[in-house]
Amino acid sequence: MTADQSDCLFCRIVRGEIPATVVYKQGGVTAFRDIAPQAPTHILIIPDQHVSGVAAMGEADEQIVGRVLRVAAELARGEGIEDRGYRLIINQGQDAGQSVPHLHVHLLGGRPLPTPLV
Ligand code: AMP
Repeated sequence: MTADQSDCLFCRIVRGEIPATVVYKQGGVTAFRDIAPQAPTHILIIPDQHVSGVAAMGEADEQIVGRVLRVAAELARGEGIEDRGYRLIINQGQDAGQSVPHLHVHLLGGRPLPTPLV
């Protein structure tokens, strides 16, 4: 990971410089509702420290990204979508449509989701 990026949108949300509906902030992980939700529950979970995507992950990032996944599961439980299920998505790069270069996990649920590619 590198130090916080001054011009990164999600770093700015972590620092409270840009408003967001933050639903979790603890232990180096922040989660907030997506500004353009694709499902009744659409939350983004991110490591506070800047890492541009999974492709940029180093060994030192493994623990915090593991924690990001655990927080996602915890939030899904809190949202009441655990029983019916949900989807976690990480977009990496252009073909995947990654639009914000700060690693984030999408938590989507609350309605049947389209059949996945894989
Ligand atoms: P991705 O396409 O995987 O990079 O996802 C980026 C996500 O960030 C999209 O779903 C956007 O709707 C969301 N997003 C962009 N700006 C904001 C913001 N200011 N607050 C919350 N979500 C945002």
